[in-house]
Amino acid sequence: MSETSFEIAMEGDRDGYVTFECPFCGSSFGLRADEVKNENGYMDRIYCPYCGLNNDFDSFLPNEIIEQAKEIAYNWMIEQLNQTFEKMAKDINAHRGIVKMRYKPLKKNEISEIHSHEGVEEAFECENCNHHVKVLYVTGSSLVYCPYCGVNT
Ligand SMILES: [Zn+2]
Ligand SMILES: [Zn+2]
Repeated sequence: MSETSFEIAMEGDRDGYVTFECPFCGSSFGLRADEVKNENGYMDRIYCPYCGLNNDFDSFLPNEIIEQAKEIAYNWMIEQLNQTFEKMAKDINAHRGIVKMRYKPLKKNEISEIHSHEGVEEAFECENCNHHVKVLYVTGSSLVYCPYCGVNT
């Protein structure tokens, strides 16, 4: 079976920030949709701006995005089944035999919409790599860790 990839649309907020969630401390923060992408797709690693721990890009995806990915994958599977059954029904019926196959397409799930959180975040620019991050709860006056290079600014 060939590999299939799904493009998950992440809606940014009015400034183009997409919400991520730290798998360690559970805090959310925003990264610019155009900055998390690189030539190979998405960046490999993200540092949490709050606790400074890092992990794979995927593990920072918020639950709602994971859920949407599952829904999209499910619908893709249904689509494959529908196509298979449709073809099977056509083949069988084409023989004009006694056997008739009736085929009713399976229903797909509604894809839920993802909304980024709008609110009290503040945007920072990293002095080291010039990437941007939006943090929700600013404890001090300055940014803690840069999600891209991990520098403590
Ligand atoms: Zn964290
Ligand atoms: Zn940086």
